[in-house]
Amino acid sequence: MLTITDLEKVYPTGDKALQGVSMEVQGNEVVSIIGPSGAGKSTLIKCVNRLTEPTSGSIVLDDEELTTLSKKELRKTRRDMGMIFQEFNLIERLTVMENVLSGRLGYMSSWNAFRRNFDEEDIQNAYEILDRVGVGGMENKRVDELSGGQRQRVGIARAILQRPKILLVDEPTSALDPETSFEVMEMLTEIAREEDIPVLINIHEVELALDYTDRIVGLTDGEVVFNGTPSELDESARDTIYRSGKTRAETGTEGQSQSRTQSSSSEITDASKEKSF
Ligand code: ADP
Repeated sequence: MLTITDLEKVYPTGDKALQGVSMEVQGNEVVSIIGPSGAGKSTLIKCVNRLTEPTSGSIVLDDEELTTLSKKELRKTRRDMGMIFQEFNLIERLTVMENVLSGRLGYMSSWNAFRRNFDEEDIQNAYEILDRVGVGGMENKRVDELSGGQRQRVGIARAILQRPKILLVDEPTSALDPETSFEVMEMLTEIAREEDIPVLINIHEVELALDYTDRIVGLTDGEVVFNGTPSELDESARDTIYRSGKTRAETGTEGQSQSRTQSSSSEITDASKEKSF
């Protein structure tokens, strides 16, 4: 279970990205964070695995306070957090198998990690997981030969092989076409159930959040303005998330926020096409 309490993040530039965020993610629920551009979604995810340092507040994962961990402790605890990124964060010139096995590096001695001496069991598990996420048979392909959807599956496989206590997912579908986006979201919900772990997803396509997640947290200007089920996200809740606050006024993103709020499948298609591989 992940419990975030009064989390604040002020960047050195003075940007107040998070202003007292409190929320929980538990069991095997899939929770999406939505909100206009600049609302703090990405900062929130990055604070959890300390890719960015929170300014104040508390983040507890299964009884362990994350905000005060030393660098050494953090390295160990990061094994518990599977990260899936928009840009996949794979090593392009390495094979699919090498990338997936890198999810186990945090568990190995420095010497074995340096020599890439992976356990036979890890290798067998990697084959099974690659099959499960739909890229079985591609183990020896270099990642730079794969499509965007296949890369994201490899990123998911790497995260599962790590056997994390939670999956943190940052805009998993932004670089994917709509069909692949649906498949990736479906896969993430399946993983939550099968691995029995919670999944926290920063996603800007509201329709995907509505269709594939158990709970939605709406952020505006670094504050939680909505926390409820997809069916509770009515027009007025959407208005609160996307049309209030200074994000829109100060950055002039009104049109963008509004169209995202009202994005239909066809709008998602248009947006995604621009970015698809
Ligand atoms: P979102 O993911 O919802 O688009 P972000 O978390 O990226 O929002 O950004 C939240 C706020 O923090 C924005 O005002 C953004 O400009 C600011 N911000 C994000 N990253 C940095 C950074 N590295 N340095 C300074 N300000 C940042």
